[in-house]
Amino acid sequence: MKTIIEPFKIKSVEPIHFTTKKERKVILEKAHYNPFRIHADDVLIDLLTDSGTSAMSSDQWAGIMRGDESYAGSSSFFHFEQSVKEITGFPIVIPTHQGRAAEKILFSILGGKGKYFISNTLFDTTRANIEFSGAEGIDCLCEAGKYPSFPAPFKGNMDIDLLKKMIDQKGAGNIPMVIMTITNNSGGGQPVSMQNIKAASEVCKQHNIPFFIDACRFAENSYFIKLREEGYAGKSVPEIAVELFSYSDGCTMSAKKDAFANIGGFLAMRDMELAVRCRNLLIITEGFTTYGGLAGRDLEAIAIGLKEVMDEHYLQYRIRSIEYLTNKLITANVPVIQPAGGHAVYIDAKEFLPHIPVEQYPGQALVCALYVEGGIRSVEIGSLMFGKYAPNHQLIPSQMELVRLAIPRRVYTQSHIDYVAEVIIEVFRKRNEIKGLEITEETPLLRHFTAKLKPIS
Ligand SMILES: *Cc1c(COP(=O)(O)O)cnc(C)c1O
Repeated sequence: MKTIIEPFKIKSVEPIHFTTKKERKVILEKAHYNPFRIHADDVLIDLLTDSGTSAMSSDQWAGIMRGDESYAGSSSFFHFEQSVKEITGFPIVIPTHQGRAAEKILFSILGGKGKYFISNTLFDTTRANIEFSGAEGIDCLCEAGKYPSFPAPFKGNMDIDLLKKMIDQKGAGNIPMVIMTITNNSGGGQPVSMQNIKAASEVCKQHNIPFFIDACRFAENSYFIKLREEGYAGKSVPEIAVELFSYSDGCTMSAKKDAFANIGGFLAMRDMELAVRCRNLLIITEGFTTYGGLAGRDLEAIAIGLKEVMDEHYLQYRIRSIEYLTNKLITANVPVIQPAGGHAVYIDAKEFLPHIPVEQYPGQALVCALYVEGGIRSVEIGSLMFGKYAPNHQLIPSQMELVRLAIPRRVYTQSHIDYVAEVIIEVFRKRNEIKGLEITEETPLLRHFTAKLKPIS
């Protein structure tokens, strides 16, 4: 088999800024050892997130010019609505400015004290919106998903027995919704099987609990189903997507992921009554129902991107490029989540830095080391992001201490990725020199975005 190439050529380029290691040490100190606080110009390869960082196509840029900026009933809204309806089959489509705006609306309406939302794994903004409403989020990740180096085809799956147990324990009446995150972002970008989606959907139906999909990476997940699940090799990605959504009652989506847009999101559903309540809130917080916090041009870019993302040459290249970096790291014995996920490579920081206890945030320490060594920006997905405090202020750590290297869509070439592998392997060689960190300042919710830290001397 020949090399799988980038299925595009480059028409417009953006320079990247080089810094020295010495400069980066100073930059990191000034940023309080939190790369969210670093200026993007001081980053060489930015793998902080794949969210809103995609390169748009020439078609999408043409769509930006065609965007209809009418306040109500813009033609770009109808193009967007048509695209979402075709892919998901949901009759009601509500635009929002991001995925979290869709979550905020949904959980403000359904959440509240004494309510429980169950998921395979809730993404951080999803969990934060649930908790902000006073409700609780419960993750029921399948057993295989809990072991980073254990290879299984669908490690993002929900543990269906645990789901049933939780419903019995908490009472179906206290569970306003079950949410399946595809792919499972916080769980390693691992896919969820069609069979698992179907099983969760059936359990929800039996108990009359609405079943929603957090669809941020629906195309990547659909492609994994095609590659890995029996009976789907001959189906097209759009066919798989339609089937997957057909088992659910609605979805939230960030168009900053699998829609190649730089901003945007939506909420889609079948329930008319719920939609009326969502639209009422939308008008107060986001905007009128045909733009929801977006410009007409954004709606146009999303409408086009949603179709482009299902192209199988693109998806083959996308999935292969993550696997390519993962395999290079495996060959060098760097501990990573296996098999490769859909949008990012995840390093197991606990294994990488066994000398740093979880109370000293090994994930964040590794994030900082990668920045200093090679100007690479990554993100911790561990106890800085998900840790909580016991009443005696002792840290309740996250299940895993991961470092995520998210690959922006259609942005970096193979030589950029080769460089990334070289930097990680160099840091791995020098791992014993890396020190832990302590927090000096933090906020109660989503603290990882703004926290200040310092190295433990
Ligand atoms: C990014 C993301 C969100 C939130 O979307 P935003 O557009 O960033 O607000 C929700 N769920 C998952 C799985 C995500 O990856």
